[in-house]
Amino acid sequence: MKSNKLRKILLTGLIALAAANFALAQTTRQRSTNVVQTRSAAAIEERGVRAAMEFLASDALQGRGSGTEFERLAGQYIGSQLRQFGVEPAGETDSSGAATYLQTVKITRNSFAANPKLTYAANGAAETLEHGGEMLVFRMTAGQIAGELQKINLDGQPKSGAVVFVRLRENENTPNLFQNLQQLAAGGARAVIVEETAQIRAGWTNYANRKISFTNVSGVAANNANIIFVSKAAAARLAAVADGTPFEIKGELNAPENRQTWNAVGKITGTDSRLASEVILLSAHLDHLGVRENAPGADKIFNGADDDASGCVAVLELARVLASGKRPKRTVHFAFFGSEEAGGYGAQFYVSNLPYPKEKLVANLEFEMIGRADAKVKPEELWLTGYDRSNLGAELARQGARLVADPHPEENFFQRSDNYTLARQGVIAHTVSSFGLHTDYHKASDEVKTIDFQHMTRSINSMVAPVQWLVNSDFKPAWYEGKKP
Ligand SMILES: [Zn+2]
Repeated sequence: MKSNKLRKILLTGLIALAAANFALAQTTRQRSTNVVQTRSAAAIEERGVRAAMEFLASDALQGRGSGTEFERLAGQYIGSQLRQFGVEPAGETDSSGAATYLQTVKITRNSFAANPKLTYAANGAAETLEHGGEMLVFRMTAGQIAGELQKINLDGQPKSGAVVFVRLRENENTPNLFQNLQQLAAGGARAVIVEETAQIRAGWTNYANRKISFTNVSGVAANNANIIFVSKAAAARLAAVADGTPFEIKGELNAPENRQTWNAVGKITGTDSRLASEVILLSAHLDHLGVRENAPGADKIFNGADDDASGCVAVLELARVLASGKRPKRTVHFAFFGSEEAGGYGAQFYVSNLPYPKEKLVANLEFEMIGRADAKVKPEELWLTGYDRSNLGAELARQGARLVADPHPEENFFQRSDNYTLARQGVIAHTVSSFGLHTDYHKASDEVKTIDFQHMTRSINSMVAPVQWLVNSDFKPAWYEGKKP
């Protein structure tokens, strides 16, 4: 999960347990009649969960740092598992033309060699604001941005290409401020300049010392807003500048750094002639924070056992079950995204280059941090982010999922995982979790030894029947009125 992120809960199951026991009994019976079956296909067992966790979250994987060779290794392992389960590859082709389970995503990272400056003319004199002085560049997506000034309220209509200057009214510094600024950009503003808030002022020095950089993902249209804060004094001066005045924000860039990140992707092609064109996407993110030499303490490896090896293992286990036995009617895609922690780059690439028409994507369930129980819900429950935004959670619950609403709405978890990248495109996309805000979140101590394997195994089991229902039904979830992000 991205910082300021998410998690979820779990379910248990006497029913799942009973099913597992029944399967075990069957296996034993079959053995006694000389049928070789080493493992019940349908049951999710703790040893399988533990085996995958002990690899993905081991020190050998060095914390699966976003865009590192260790992230790639995690993706390669996941692809090997999918191959073994009988899931079809959905990634790029290798040098012999054969399909693989990997998607290589090219990323370009740009950083400023010197602090960017904003320049404009007022009353015939050139004015300059510099990052770290009276101005803070919160986000810039190019080395040079220019446009005509437009003074506007937060709910105003920006002119296309304008550099808008927003003065906040009382109580407008809400938790949704950044979303609102982003909307101004989505509405056509080239850049958004905002008067400082108390929160920004409190972090001014930190922001000023931060290296400003921006990332372009190959195959993804840039849609991030350029956001700049100015001091109260500078805001008072800007308020007196005439609309239409040319503004320019510019800084010299270092040579771009070329990087890569990797998604692991597979699919099970549906069998029903009417439903096979419809897609259910099950996803998790395979990267974590890697090795951080400046971390406090002796342990520098951020293993990311809960975040999000646990989600990957959930999706792997669901893939294994769905690929065994009778094949689903709908087509099921599995995606394990790279570079979630670094900005969601793997998911952005996936969404921008879907291997099926977007309108055929019926629903996405992202699995994040299900390795430990959340004390905020019942021991046998998982929670779904954005539960009250669509009817998917309620319908899955009706099908037996012990899914409840996210008990931490103040954490904005719906927006903090890769599901949001899809939800912003209109796809019904939620995250399943049981993150109880434990203190190992984004620390080197998020290790396998902290995982509650009973909880995790039961949680995954509890989702099997509802997911099997979803991939075999013609149910199409919908946003509740006014709740589409
Ligand atoms: Zn995380």
